[in-house]
Amino acid sequence: MKRAISVLMMLLFIQTALYAAEKNITVTFPAQVEIGQPFLVSIRSESEIDSVTISWQEKECVLTGDNGTFNVLLGTDLKNAGTGTSELRISCSLNGQLLEEKRNIHLITRKYPRENLKVSPEKLTPPASLSERIKREAALGREAIQTNTPGSAPVLPLFKPVPGGYSSVYGKSRYLNGQFKGRHGGLDMRAARGSPIKATSSGTVVLTGDFWFAGKCIYIDHGAGLISFYCHMSKVSKSKGEKVKRGEVIGLSGKSGRVTGPHLHFSVSWRGEFFDPAPLLK
Ligand SMILES: [Zn+2]
Repeated sequence: MKRAISVLMMLLFIQTALYAAEKNITVTFPAQVEIGQPFLVSIRSESEIDSVTISWQEKECVLTGDNGTFNVLLGTDLKNAGTGTSELRISCSLNGQLLEEKRNIHLITRKYPRENLKVSPEKLTPPASLSERIKREAALGREAIQTNTPGSAPVLPLFKPVPGGYSSVYGKSRYLNGQFKGRHGGLDMRAARGSPIKATSSGTVVLTGDFWFAGKCIYIDHGAGLISFYCHMSKVSKSKGEKVKRGEVIGLSGKSGRVTGPHLHFSVSWRGEFFDPAPLLK
């Protein structure tokens, strides 16, 4: 009998906890998202919640809130994500209890353009003597985009780093001499050499470099897994560890690295997954 009562009590307790959770937490999210496109998730609570952790596509980030509202900007990378239902998990502590909420988001396809280019064969493959350098630089870039500091969604729309139009869009598949060479992971923005480049959102510089592919480049951490990346610059005027404000000049545009002409390549990633920044700049 005693045992039955305690089980009943426990069930009642669990039910109350679930009821409290349902009553106190509102999650706003899109039911359907196109692969490669960004989306916002908002968690709101009337009760005191803290340490909200978001888990999406097997990656996590920690959110800081403002007046009981926790916002995060998420995305999927066209290279890695597949269609179908994907689970968004929200973990937080509410009145001292650990709580997990789950929501389903349906990922659907989107058509991205294709580009055919003809280049001289020696330009297709970098010389073997550079392979160590290229590998080292790629590792630094991979590490930078995995920076994961607690934060919240940036102010939207994002600040446009240069005012020009786009010469290439996100997701474009590139065929060089008929050979598939991958998808474009960002936006190419028209910018004459020496144009000031401005930070898309406030954050902290996590990496700068002068790389063989990217040329002079800078990576900025905006918190909550969001990183912006700017490359082919002629000058980088900020250094690692420096804080930057939204709209602050971070360097000048150029044509450094492996490019044919001056432009700014601008990318945004969540936990290393590059998605289309264009809808966020409008
Ligand atoms: Zn580009």
